[in-house]
Amino acid sequence: MRLWLENVDADLQARKRDHHWRTLPSVASRCEPEMVIRNKACLQFCTNNYLGLAADPRVVDAVRAGMDQWGFGAGASRLVAGNAAPYAKLESDLARLKQKPAAVILSSGYAANLAVLKTFAAPTDVVFSDKLNHASLLDAATASAATHHTYPHLDFDRLESRLRRTAEKHEHRPSPAARGRRWIVTDTVFSMDGDVCPLPRVAAIARRYAALLVVDEAHATGVLGPDGAGVAAQQNCQTDVALSIGTLSKAFGSVGGFIAGPQAAIDALINRGRNLIYTTALPAVCILAAQAALDISLAEPWRRARLGTLAERVRGELRQMGFNCGQSASPVIPVILGSSEAALCAAELLSQMGVWVPAIRPPTVKPNTARLRISLMATHTDEHIARLIAAMRKLRQSLERSSRPPG
Ligand SMILES: *Cc1c(COP(=O)(O)O)cnc(C)c1O
Repeated sequence: MRLWLENVDADLQARKRDHHWRTLPSVASRCEPEMVIRNKACLQFCTNNYLGLAADPRVVDAVRAGMDQWGFGAGASRLVAGNAAPYAKLESDLARLKQKPAAVILSSGYAANLAVLKTFAAPTDVVFSDKLNHASLLDAATASAATHHTYPHLDFDRLESRLRRTAEKHEHRPSPAARGRRWIVTDTVFSMDGDVCPLPRVAAIARRYAALLVVDEAHATGVLGPDGAGVAAQQNCQTDVALSIGTLSKAFGSVGGFIAGPQAAIDALINRGRNLIYTTALPAVCILAAQAALDISLAEPWRRARLGTLAERVRGELRQMGFNCGQSASPVIPVILGSSEAALCAAELLSQMGVWVPAIRPPTVKPNTARLRISLMATHTDEHIARLIAAMRKLRQSLERSSRPPG
């Protein structure tokens, strides 16, 4: 016991020393552009509430009305007694959005990723993941029975050479089962860089090697593509995608994850998906909130359009100031600063100006690529954006002063 805690403590001390210490910031307000974080009123650019629907009055009303009918807790797993009626409508709407025959909702996007690879990837299979995939997708690949290979971010030559090597190694095996399947799994919008995966290139490789393509559209659903259907729809690749994963917790302002795909795959998840079977269903009001948000997102396309406009404006301004925003093409805009200390100092400086932008550090991102991560909302006003730009300009000046040699 003592030794264990000494080890834990040594690790924590190292984190403090390396500027990787994390604490949970207390929040005392709704998820809106202006929030109270760490007991301080601030203008925030840190949530995935892209369409501004998490506290929309219509979403809140749907929850209030739902609460009268359903109460709160679901009381059991979906298979036992937790499958409240609102699930069926939302699943059918999500399937339609993703142009797939069926969809199933789980308690989080994290659980959805685990369910897909743990249910379908067999011991003779090989999963290929982009190194910058979301942690839950990487965890899912590791937790699955399959062999897991990662390829450098968007390096499709490497992906292809790894697939070729696997094909050569497996082709002499005696049966299709022994030869296994290949899975290519990728985020479509990468969480910490906001860049977008060119799916037609991945789809072409998947076809060449008879691999199954699984996409995680957590940041793209509700945000990109026609009706917010995601990147696969935007890039005309929906038919190349075997399974599409999304979340109800980002643009749809609620909580929960979902998987869209062929009916047999969805039936298999209901029958074999441990992350669905052995956990209590989400409360019905979570589903009603997501349904209300989905309906609003379809009825008010201005939200997506505004997000796109704001992202372009912010990236343009930041680049003009000399900041490195990587390849962002979404409402997630990194400002890459390098050291963890630099990122923390920058976040602190912004916070003193009443602007809350999180510093993202290793191990979430590669060493020496620590950054600020700006995420925008459709409900940020022009005045909010002007305040962000002004604060970033001050940060720029402060960085220039500190990098200038003394004297
Ligand atoms: C946020 C996120 C998840 C997890 O979704 P939750 O619903 O928050 O569990 C999965 N994948 C990606 C790419 C994400 O950004």
